[in-house]
Amino acid sequence: MVEITIPFDIPDVEIVNIEINIEKGIINITIKSTVEGTRCHICGRKMNKLHGHDREIKLRHLSILGMETYILIRPARYQCIHCKGKPTTTQKLQWYNQRSTCTIAFEEHILFQLVHSTVEDVSIKENIGYDAVMGIIDRYIGKKVNWKEINNLDILGIDEISLKKGHKDFVTIVTERNGDGKIRILAVISGRKKEDVKKFLSSIPKRLSKTILAVCSDLYKGYINATKEVFGDDMIIIADRFHIAKLYRKGLEGLRKKEMKRLKKGLSEYEYKKLNGVMWILRKNINDLTEKEFEVLKLLFKYSPILNIAYKFCNELTNIFEDDISKSEAKRRINKWKNQVIKSGLTCFNNFISTLDEWMEEITVSASNLRVTGIILNRKATLQVDK
Ligand SMILES: [Zn+2]
Repeated sequence: MVEITIPFDIPDVEIVNIEINIEKGIINITIKSTVEGTRCHICGRKMNKLHGHDREIKLRHLSILGMETYILIRPARYQCIHCKGKPTTTQKLQWYNQRSTCTIAFEEHILFQLVHSTVEDVSIKENIGYDAVMGIIDRYIGKKVNWKEINNLDILGIDEISLKKGHKDFVTIVTERNGDGKIRILAVISGRKKEDVKKFLSSIPKRLSKTILAVCSDLYKGYINATKEVFGDDMIIIADRFHIAKLYRKGLEGLRKKEMKRLKKGLSEYEYKKLNGVMWILRKNINDLTEKEFEVLKLLFKYSPILNIAYKFCNELTNIFEDDISKSEAKRRINKWKNQVIKSGLTCFNNFISTLDEWMEEITVSASNLRVTGIILNRKATLQVDK
């Protein structure tokens, strides 16, 4: 018999039973709450008279040891001795919402996953239905922030999540990245209108808005303008690196599609088949490529030298963002990159270049050694960047 310790982070509960199904990769943990009493849903008074337990509910929780984890609990029911008819109320616990099928920790995990991803990808990756993800999003829209719990904000993130057609088109997720590395979801806003984002940003108490060091945002006018209008023009705005990369990679992607179409006509079926999987190979980090993938890439570039040039340009830009450089150095290198692209005659980065022209400030801050995505954030150093 092997004994393992599993990390478990739900407060005030007693574990009654743990069932691990290794084959299916599922853990079921049956628990009992050690919290006593709850408030009457009619008069709001505290009640301590137990009135049995509800039927067992099953809540999805954060994975443990890489396995899907579920919490099983029979919520306690209490009876009010003050109200007429002695009504009963199910005990409310702080770690799950009564209408949800997951714990709050899991819901927040899903929302974090959504930043820089899509509902579809998250639903596949986490093995929960599309509608379950949408349900989580819907529950968080318009939810009030408990500002009292927060001491300082450091870096504010504003990210646009696009939803599948048929639902609302977009939601905006506002996060807070603290110096201690913790990320917190502050708000989920329906849509991505400037006015709605502004309304939320304005609701941040003065005590906390003073602690914002920078705002990391998607390069979207509504977001940037909302930020400037609420926090002033001197707020440091950082373009989200992931978003920038998506923009220039789109240029490469467009060229790939065009070139593959051309090659499909020009090459024999046998030769064309050798280029299977190039879409993924081009998307992969060049350092992670296997030897076989390198061979495919070499063949592709033999047939399409123009794609080779565009690929090099893409990687060069990625290097600029990954190198530990100052803002002025980033500006110099990005401008040099831009001139070389224009000189090369490549047109696939035209969209990205107009974005560059519009948001040069925000993009170079992002490329500078201000570690936006990093956890380590030295407040003093940040404020001194390029002063
Ligand atoms: Zn009552």
